Amino acid sequence: MINIILLGAPGAGKGTQANKLSNKYNLIHISTGDMIREEIKNNTIFGKRAKMFSDKGLLVPDELVIEIIKNKLYFVGGGYLFDGFPRNVKQAEAVDEIVKSKSIACPLIFYIDVSEDELIKRLTNRRYCPNCNKIYNLLNNIPRRDEICDFCGNNLIMRKDDVIEVIRKRLEVFCSETYPLLEYYSNSDKLYKIDGNSSENEVYNQLVSIIDDNIKK
Ligand code: AMP
Repeated sequence: MINIILLGAPGAGKGTQANKLSNKYNLIHISTGDMIREEIKNNTIFGKRAKMFSDKGLLVPDELVIEIIKNKLYFVGGGYLFDGFPRNVKQAEAVDEIVKSKSIACPLIFYIDVSEDELIKRLTNRRYCPNCNKIYNLLNNIPRRDEICDFCGNNLIMRKDDVIEVIRKRLEVFCSETYPLLEYYSNSDKLYKIDGNSSENEVYNQLVSIIDDNIKK
């Protein structure tokens, strides 16, 4: 059973690719961003604390995020696809610990690399369905009816953290906290850099080809 980690800046397309890959390879999609948004929506104690950070484009403290990941993994088993986790070295160490303690296969790590201009263009045009989490983009992945989800008919919304000031903060945080993970994983023979500037399908095909090669090994 394979496990996957998707690394990339906000807007790199991790969520979109994670949805497709988890369907294709029957993996459990673990998106810390979605989990945090769900907690915020439900106004839980965790959600209230997390909101103070995520609204500002900051990372939610490691101990909170690692705790929700561990809780989730306690209840579900199988191949995992981590989307948006780890986000820094401390979280990467937590993943190493999980891999050891659950005796799961070392994850394939994909870094989806997208230029800053493209990230900003994608994020400011991103809309999402708060009901079924489907992601749209007003430039190239347009809903059939204006701002209405094709799948469940809910009104689409713009994420609170997709406004330009917060986007800039998130990109800053990515550079200082998450980008160094490339160094952390630099000795791994399972780290793959993918050019994420191309179309959704092209990126997907690149990912699938590497995953299939690894499955055959
Ligand atoms: P995302 O949907 O992955 O862009 O995440 C949205 C927000 O949730 C981030 O800006 C952070 O505030 C928070 N978040 C998501 N994943 C993590 C993580 N692994 N560690 C800390 N904060 C996170």
